[in-house]
Amino acid sequence: MKTALVTGASRGIGNAIALELKQKGYSVIGTATSQAGVDSLLEKDIEGYILDLNSNDSIDQFWRLLEENNKSISVLVNNAGITRDNIVLRMSDEEWSDIMNVHLYGTFQLCKRSLKMMLKNKWGRIINISSASASIGNRGQSNYAAAKAGVEAFTKSLAKEVGKRDITINSVAPGFISTDMTEQNEGVNSDYLVKEIPLGRFGEPNEVASLVGFLCSEDASYITGQTIHINGGLYM
Ligand code: NAP
Repeated sequence: MKTALVTGASRGIGNAIALELKQKGYSVIGTATSQAGVDSLLEKDIEGYILDLNSNDSIDQFWRLLEENNKSISVLVNNAGITRDNIVLRMSDEEWSDIMNVHLYGTFQLCKRSLKMMLKNKWGRIINISSASASIGNRGQSNYAAAKAGVEAFTKSLAKEVGKRDITINSVAPGFISTDMTEQNEGVNSDYLVKEIPLGRFGEPNEVASLVGFLCSEDASYITGQTIHINGGLYM
């Protein structure tokens, strides 16, 4: 049985992806930032680990535990994410660096570490969760949009580096999906935003999870280096 690692699996899109991959027959490892999150994963029969991508020590400790438990990752979904919204004139260095650490540096670290296992397995799938913000920008989200655009560019470059080893790497860029993140950021404006979406609604986490499940499968064996948009037509 192949093992899939999904970061930020305790809630939202990551939780839906972890359940989708489990249903597709993978042994799934999910991460959360707290023990309560890990426990909630265990209740769903998903092996949970604590991981804070804003901390090098936490990344090292997480990886050490995986290796001690003889885990070999075939599928990596870099999903964990945060927002630290502010206009540039008011943005603190910390608001900038938290976003770069969690989204960009975290993705680099987990790709680099998982790739060594995938090369040994002679097969691998990496899905990096980006955002429509990377393509269209968003007022108050310059840090987030820049990090996600970085993730997409990183994805393309890595796809060129490892393609000959039967390892594909793609980005998935959601528009507005109903999760805690959108509730926190967009809740008050959602009626206004829905008018901008041709399909007339926010997406659901399981709709993103289906796309990720497809990209992880053999049916997607000739797709690499792409950014696949899933946004109800918000950006086309
Ligand atoms: P969410 O519901 O807020 O869940 C975020 C997940 O990331 C949680 O599992 C959380 O763990 C984890 N996380 C938070 N900080 C972390 C850190 N420092 N280190 C490691 N993990 C951390 O978010 P979501 O809406 O599902 O978003 C998932 C991904 O989709 C993100 O990359 C986001 O940028 C992207 N995205 C979302 C939307 C949208 O509309 N929702 C649109 C475009 C892109 P805890 O439960 O422990 O806090």
